[in-house]
Amino acid sequence: MKSFDVAIIGSGHNGLACAALLAKAGLRVVVCERSDRLGGATVSDTDVWPGYTISAASYVCSLLDPWLVKELDLTKHGYHAYRKDPASFTPMRDGRSLLLGSDHATNAQEISAFDPADVAGFAAFEAEATRLGSLLFETFADEDPSFERFDAQTQALLRGSAADLVEKFVKTPVLQATLATDGLIGTNRGPRDAGTGYILAHHYAGRALGAQGAWGFVRGGMGGVSAALASAARSFGAEILTDASVARIVIRENRVQGVILENGREIDARCVASNAHPRTTLLGLAAGAEMPSWLRDKIVLWRTTGASLKLNLALGELPNFTARPGSNMQAHHRATIHVAPSLDYLQKAFEDGRTEGASPEPMLECFMQTPTEPDLAPPGKHILSIFAQYFPYDRDDRWSTDARENITKSIIETLAQYAPNIPSAIEAQQLLAPPDLESRFGLVGGNIFHGELLPGQIYENRFNLRTPIDGLYLCGSGTHPGGCVSGFPGRRAAQAIVNDLVTVTS
Ligand SMILES: Cc1cc2nc3c(=O)[nH]c(=O)nc-3n(C[C@H](O)[C@H](O)[C@H](O)COP(=O)(O)OP(=O)(O)OC[C@H]3O[C@@H](n4cnc5c(N)ncnc54)[C@H](O)[C@@H]3O)c2cc1C
Repeated sequence: MKSFDVAIIGSGHNGLACAALLAKAGLRVVVCERSDRLGGATVSDTDVWPGYTISAASYVCSLLDPWLVKELDLTKHGYHAYRKDPASFTPMRDGRSLLLGSDHATNAQEISAFDPADVAGFAAFEAEATRLGSLLFETFADEDPSFERFDAQTQALLRGSAADLVEKFVKTPVLQATLATDGLIGTNRGPRDAGTGYILAHHYAGRALGAQGAWGFVRGGMGGVSAALASAARSFGAEILTDASVARIVIRENRVQGVILENGREIDARCVASNAHPRTTLLGLAAGAEMPSWLRDKIVLWRTTGASLKLNLALGELPNFTARPGSNMQAHHRATIHVAPSLDYLQKAFEDGRTEGASPEPMLECFMQTPTEPDLAPPGKHILSIFAQYFPYDRDDRWSTDARENITKSIIETLAQYAPNIPSAIEAQQLLAPPDLESRFGLVGGNIFHGELLPGQIYENRFNLRTPIDGLYLCGSGTHPGGCVSGFPGRRAAQAIVNDLVTVTS
């Protein structure tokens, strides 16, 4: 039987990054992916509607590790990202709107229309968020991450709320809410809740677009990242299997021996790196292994209940916003479109989700790649990707058909208050509610980051990439620096495995 140095469970972008780096280091690597396609939540689907390519889950990119791009020559393997500019568009019901991008003069004009004093405040906020994001970035590849190493003032800001961070600098409600949204993505917390300051800074940590904190999109959809990583991994000799669900990690005398697939195939390996959620890996695939009680407790108590959903719409024409009329392609159609009129609105959306199981007036972050990359849809058609909160995984009705229909309807009605042509422009729709994110991608509890990215679950408190089982590693978002399409968890695991194998061999 063929044996490997490392078997990797899961082909999320982190599993693929880990595989590519290990194969480049000369190790024999196999990736076993449960699904029929690669990439996990970093995927471009071409089989949902004929002629459309959809970033089914993740849709914009910033945190992808530039070192990884260079080290694996991902550009040669087809990866290319474009900066989003303008970056954000927040329409309002009263006909006003806010469009922000890289041009300082235009930003000043847009903000002045609300409050001239906020022009300087916005610049000061951007400087502060960029400073915090840069500090985080510098720690993302750390072998031994430590939150405590940040100075006391930085720790306080990161432990605080997103609202605290933005209110210090700007007064205009729609500007405050637009900026605070980065602190809410993926979390089941509101803007005034502690720890959302960290999430905000995390979303300013990326350098993939060549500027600290800038966001963009990937040619061909987010699957372009995974395809490039898979191509790099194969070029260094890694084998990648799809429809290869791992049933069990084989462990003898607390030492990993390999994995057994659902189809009965046994794969021998000196090490196993799991890209699956820590709970899936340690309580499921490694069930029965010896584990200290503190680790068992940590897995059980790990906060991994999501409240984010994805609604992908095929549109027959571009949204016609009352605030910037016209279905002809305009600059705002290329930006992230926010429904976020004020911090109070966002906090209420969270409270409603917590108490009622859904926000009748939700936070929406929408993006369309088709205005800039028309090939992703048939001629004249568009894809509107809607990321919506707060719709908790653990609703009492367990996401019944009625609940799904009502929630979809309320999201579309909310958007229609800003762009009334949207309902009639919809030609097809795909809802990925939190339980769907769990069943399709293995995101336990539907949490998009493999667990909340809040203080208490970050840095030294995230899962260690080395487990107490000899030869078993974690290489997914449950480890530092957590979720988003970054590749850092995969990179850190690969480096640890190479170091450990060299130590064992020498
Ligand atoms: C709706 C949504 C929107 C998002 N938007 C963005 C965004 O715009 N930008 C951004 O940066 N991030 C975004 N994120 C977060 C980001 O996508 C994730 O943090 C990231 O993709 C996780 O990558 P990963 O490699 O750690 O794990 P995953 O992508 O979760 O991959 C894990 C893989 O393991 C496989 N697996 C699980 N169990 C087994 C088993 N037993 N056998 C074999 N394989 C197994 C799964 O099938 C999966 O392929 C979003 C996530 C979601 C869900």
